[in-house]
Amino acid sequence: MINFAIHLRHHCTLPILSRQLDFLSRSNSKFELCEKNDCMIIEKMLRSRDNFSAGAAISLMLTFDKLVGLFRDRLDQLPDHRKGGNNTTYEIKDAALGALAVFFTQSPSFLAHQKKMEDRKGRSNATTLFGIERTPSTPQIRNLLDPVSPQELYPVFRTILEALEKNGPLAQFRAFNDSLLVSLDGTQYFSSQKIHCRQCSQQQLNNGETLYSHKVVTAVVVNPNLSHVLPLEPEFIRPQDGHDKQDCEIAAAKRWLKRCGRTYAAYDITLLGDDLYAHQPLCQLILKEELNFIFVCKPDSHQKLYEWLDFLQAKPNEALPTLTHRHWNGQFAEIWTYRYINQVPLRAGENALEVNWCELTITREDTGQQLYLNSWVTNYQLDADNVEAIVGSGRSRWKTENEGNNILKNRGYHLEHNFGHGQHHLSATLLTLNLLAFFFHTILHLIDTRYQRLREHLGARRTFFNDIRTLTRYLCFDSWNHLLNFMIEQLELDIPPAPT
Ligand SMILES: [Zn+2]
Repeated sequence: MINFAIHLRHHCTLPILSRQLDFLSRSNSKFELCEKNDCMIIEKMLRSRDNFSAGAAISLMLTFDKLVGLFRDRLDQLPDHRKGGNNTTYEIKDAALGALAVFFTQSPSFLAHQKKMEDRKGRSNATTLFGIERTPSTPQIRNLLDPVSPQELYPVFRTILEALEKNGPLAQFRAFNDSLLVSLDGTQYFSSQKIHCRQCSQQQLNNGETLYSHKVVTAVVVNPNLSHVLPLEPEFIRPQDGHDKQDCEIAAAKRWLKRCGRTYAAYDITLLGDDLYAHQPLCQLILKEELNFIFVCKPDSHQKLYEWLDFLQAKPNEALPTLTHRHWNGQFAEIWTYRYINQVPLRAGENALEVNWCELTITREDTGQQLYLNSWVTNYQLDADNVEAIVGSGRSRWKTENEGNNILKNRGYHLEHNFGHGQHHLSATLLTLNLLAFFFHTILHLIDTRYQRLREHLGARRTFFNDIRTLTRYLCFDSWNHLLNFMIEQLELDIPPAPT
């Protein structure tokens, strides 16, 4: 199959475009649209054409420029909260792009360096890479973004997920039952006894002082076989209007479900979560929103369910269905024992939700030492053919802990160290922008062979970001492609540069 790369110029007239598309349609070929053109318009034209061959495939390249473009499109729709005064010079759009640039480059001083570059060269990477028209300072970003609710940015996550689905990369994340596994997890990203805002959660300490904090429920697509994770829109744990009591993780998870459960249900989602989430009202809401769940379920917090299990096992000749496998881990043999049962009550009471329960125990064959024990509840009907896959899905939650939140927290993304707190939404909005920056890097890793090659060659994450920081401080690049091509050429790597 021939691959065409069509580069349609801005001056390309519709008749010329039409003839080119006619040719491509007839050629029964696969082709890609260059990111320099308005792919969405061209795609709509292609899909609307009756003569477009069923054998032809459209692949819209999801590129850095396209990602920034999607983000900018959303920013165009942000309400302007300013009431005149000092902030009129700088647009909220530039503030949001500026914050994204800081998180994306992982350089708190990125904007300051770009302002100096503008003075020296008359242009800067803030404009060429991120489309910032007038580079704001950090205090300006804080003032401009404080009134902007993070919810205003959530559509970007949905748009990108839709693009990933349409372009194909999402398919590799599909796991058990061809669904996407989405891990919900609460994490604290800020705490202080001094700095606080109206959105802070509060806790009275023994010494009489108050601890202020911010927590968020992150929703992250994971796959047992992939190292990458995809963040979806989060839900913040914070005092809710009209409610006196403190917010909590489960209440936040319910809001997440009510806000976007139905939208994500179209992707066929299985939610993963810890023992906290194996909670009847939450599970019922999940089923109502037409999603699935696999949640950890511990004996201490689910006594009624485990009483049932004891009762069932006490019956003569009625052991729970059990599956055993032997695994060699390279050093010694492990015995993996799965037990499962369908239709057990999640809690006490007549209206208890019936769930399906499974457990995995791993022991060392030679010594009998128990290496691992965990159990889950799910709405999936369990049988000998699927119990291993369901347990494997439940266990893939660890990716959120080790590669999702901890990447954001510990490997350079500084989830806690976003650069401002504000009085209203700033802390949450900056965290959302940080998640988006993380999302952008993950997508580049998935779709851009030059990005993959560079990251592989440079090894440590820190090296890559140090290089980006230094290069963008001294040189002005025409585009992200230009920057990547420059690095590849200078390092003499064997990847052909993409057109700039
Ligand atoms: Zn706060």
